[in-house]
Amino acid sequence: MDSPNNQNQQLHVFFMPFIAPGHIIPMIDLAKLFASRGVKSSIITTAAYTDKVYQSIQKSASESPIQVLAMTTAAGTITWEQASEEAKVDLFFNSASTFAEPLKELLEQHRPDCLVADTFFTWTTELAASLRVPKVVFGGKCFFSLCAEQSLVEHYPHNTVSSDDDAFVIPNLPGDGIEFTRGQISEAWKSESVFTHFFKKCLDSERDSYGVLVNSFYELEPLYADHYRSAVAKRAWHVGPVSLFAGGAEEKESRGMVTVTEAAAVDRHECLKWLDSKKPNSVIYLCFGSDAEFTAAQNSELAAGLEGSGQGFVWVVKRREDLPDGFEERVEGQGLVIEGWAPQLLILGHAAVGGFVTHCGWNSVVEAIAAGVPMVTWPLAAEQFFNEKLVSKVLRVGVEVGARRWVRLVGDFVRKEAVEKAVREVMVGERAEEMRSMTRKLGGMARSALEEGGSSLGDLSCFIEEFTLVRRRLNP
Ligand code: UDP
Repeated sequence: MDSPNNQNQQLHVFFMPFIAPGHIIPMIDLAKLFASRGVKSSIITTAAYTDKVYQSIQKSASESPIQVLAMTTAAGTITWEQASEEAKVDLFFNSASTFAEPLKELLEQHRPDCLVADTFFTWTTELAASLRVPKVVFGGKCFFSLCAEQSLVEHYPHNTVSSDDDAFVIPNLPGDGIEFTRGQISEAWKSESVFTHFFKKCLDSERDSYGVLVNSFYELEPLYADHYRSAVAKRAWHVGPVSLFAGGAEEKESRGMVTVTEAAAVDRHECLKWLDSKKPNSVIYLCFGSDAEFTAAQNSELAAGLEGSGQGFVWVVKRREDLPDGFEERVEGQGLVIEGWAPQLLILGHAAVGGFVTHCGWNSVVEAIAAGVPMVTWPLAAEQFFNEKLVSKVLRVGVEVGARRWVRLVGDFVRKEAVEKAVREVMVGERAEEMRSMTRKLGGMARSALEEGGSSLGDLSCFIEEFTLVRRRLNP
């Protein structure tokens, strides 16, 4: 029998993000969302991040219980930014040897009711099972990509075509024959490598864990949400867009600073002031996530395309010195360049912003949808080409720039004419208005999903109820 104490005790969930920005940012939002529903939320991270994570949750944590627990291990003293390429590979592939012991200690000490771990921590399934803690995956992907990837790896349909430019459809993927070309598929699924094994393990761990939390909302992709639940995974809860739980303006402004240095974001205030001086929907925002490293040649081409489009813009670049000489002076008044890191949520939410050129990282896509901003899709790698098709072909709230090759970090080379055309298409004219109104509608649905009676909040309640029952079963 369950003691009254055990029944009423607050549910305790561990959130363990991978330390790269695109993973740690949504996991912090997710912890805030859970905490707002009365769940005791603990973010498990390394020594290098504890203070920074704590700062980013301070405001929310004063209202709801969120704690930050550090895994004590030597490898945990460096940040993603500081890590060399080899160290990143080590953190990525060999994370079990680094983090298993300290995580085990924390699990034994705190006995949480559930471990929500990043998809890359595949080894946590076994560890959590050995300690009788149910483990759930949070991978930061949408249902469409989860379904597409599973089917691709099951059927290898790209092997049925002979060149990288040939199109194929993914078997069993709901929708009207959405086409991909072989060139848009990850190298990991084209030739066997350590990556192939690693990403297969990630898919297996999604399947073998207790379930999957998805940063999406039902109304956005019902076909794929249903398909994933019925044909792919055992259990999935859609609880997004989690960025709607990022907090107030102050927290949004510093969101993601947990993953970058202060110096990288010196001009963020200037940017919002500049936007205040612009007309509604007159500015396009360009940002390619945390990892992209365009070549100088690509930056020049992009710069020329933007200049030619005549549209106002805010462009986030890794390094100013990679821009063509004299560019910033020439576009003064038309555009603004931010070096390093931008307050993306505040920019997307600004009335002057009417479009977003994105690399289609899922966080960026779902943030744009929540803000009602249509997109120019420019995928580079990871599962970004899948996200692009959801945006351009299924939801029809974006225009493809025409990237045809999956290339890590630098992406396919895109010509200035293509940039100029896509930017204009998303910013001006009838089709632009249509896409804007469609995206706004989706943005409204996103907000409703996280209000009382909404689909995402409903799924979150189901999650909480289910794990309260699981706790009783595990601790009779
Ligand atoms: N982001 C930001 N400012 C930047 C660049 C990125 O706030 O200048 C945030 C963005 O809002 C998103 C995350 O970083 O939440 C990037 O995640 P995404 O999945 O879009 O791309 P990734 O970085 O994983 O490729």
